Amino acid sequence: MWTLSPGVPIGCKSPPKRGSYSTQIHTYLGASLGGLDMWTNELFGLSFFGTLKHGEPDHACLKPLSEVTPIVYPKLSSKLVFDKLSSVFVSNTNHEEDQPVHLRLADPNVPVRDNLPRYGEPAPLYCPAGVYEVVYGDEATTSDPRFVINAQNCVHCKTCDIKDPAQNITWVPPEGGGGPNYPNM
Ligand code: SF4
Repeated sequence: MWTLSPGVPIGCKSPPKRGSYSTQIHTYLGASLGGLDMWTNELFGLSFFGTLKHGEPDHACLKPLSEVTPIVYPKLSSKLVFDKLSSVFVSNTNHEEDQPVHLRLADPNVPVRDNLPRYGEPAPLYCPAGVYEVVYGDEATTSDPRFVINAQNCVHCKTCDIKDPAQNITWVPPEGGGGPNYPNM
């Protein structure tokens, strides 16, 4: 059974071995201070710890490919670090079949025409659920690219709505209340 205990990452089946008493204290302390900060912010507009700001909307601060060196990530161990679809499976995400797509593109040409050459189309990187893919008619030559939306995997974090550099994606609530379901939370 999947459990969520203080100090235990989601997905771990049992708490770490004893001896981590101070870890538990830190977890409770962190949760308490975080809760206090949230409520004072909500009720009085005051934050004890402040917040980090970068002065512009998230979608406006993405750097183009020409200004970055793409990160080559190591192969996943599947012991401590898992692929996105394994995590989507754990989230019990479910959407009714044949429902209208709840991730809407204002202009369906933007991902391949604009985002791909300028940014390498970032949606497959920032989406935590593997919803977005760029697939190629010929993978070897990366020709004939297509932007694919696997909306049934969406865990409704709304990152795409916020981060898409062209502000071309709109997340709307899915029909039928579908989405992730964490029964132990
Ligand atoms: S809302 Fe989150 S999970 Fe859903 S498609 Fe957008 S980035 Fe992916």
